[in-house]
Amino acid sequence: MYDAYEGDLDYLEGFKDDGDENVRLLEPLLAFRLSRAYRRSDVLRAHLRIESAGRPRSEQERLYAGYKAGKPGFNLAANPDRIIGRHGGTTFLGSWHMEQPDGYTYAVDLTHHWKLDWDDVHDLLRASGLHTTVPGEPWHHQSTTIRGALPGPFPDGTTTEDEMTPEMEERFDGLATWVFNGTTMILKRIEELSMQLEGTTPTEGDDE
Ligand SMILES: [Zn+2]
Repeated sequence: MYDAYEGDLDYLEGFKDDGDENVRLLEPLLAFRLSRAYRRSDVLRAHLRIESAGRPRSEQERLYAGYKAGKPGFNLAANPDRIIGRHGGTTFLGSWHMEQPDGYTYAVDLTHHWKLDWDDVHDLLRASGLHTTVPGEPWHHQSTTIRGALPGPFPDGTTTEDEMTPEMEERFDGLATWVFNGTTMILKRIEELSMQLEGTTPTEGDDE
C-alpha cells in the first residue's frame, strides 16, 4: 500500500471502457504502474481503455456455476478454488481477475479499439512495469505473477530496471511467461479432462 493508492484508483476510474469495470480491487502495484503509464502518455490517455479489471470472488463463483451448468451466455470461467500458484505467503486462486484471499485482483484487460498498435502500446506499458503474461492475449496485463513483482517502477521511487539490462529483462520475461504458460496449460488440461469425465466439453477461452 502507498499513500496515493486511493487517488490512483480514482484517476483510473476515468479510463473505464463501458463504465461497469471494477478498478477498486486492483492490487497496489498494478494500480500504481497503470496510473503512471497513463500520466506519462497522452496516446494512452486518448485511446487506451480498461475493458476488464477485477471481480469479487462471488462473481467468479456465479460465472463458474453458469459455465458448468452450460447456461447460455456463460463462457469458460475458471474454478474459483483452483490454485494458480503460490508466492511467499500468498496462494493465488481461480483467475488473476478474481479477488484473491488478500482482497486484491492482479490483472487488467485493456482495449484500444483498433486505434493503436499493440506493439506500440506494449512499449509504453512496459516502461511502467506492466507486462503481458498470457500468450495470445495482448490485452491482458499484470505487474505481479507467481514469481513476484515483474520488473518496473515501485511507489517508493525505486525501479528494478536499474539493475537489469534490457537483455536480462528479456530473458526474465521469457522465463516468467514460459513458467506461467506451462502452469496454465497443465491446469487447463486437467480442467478439460475433469469436464470430459463429467460429460461436458469445454470451449476455448482466455484467462477468465
Ligand atoms: Zn485478462
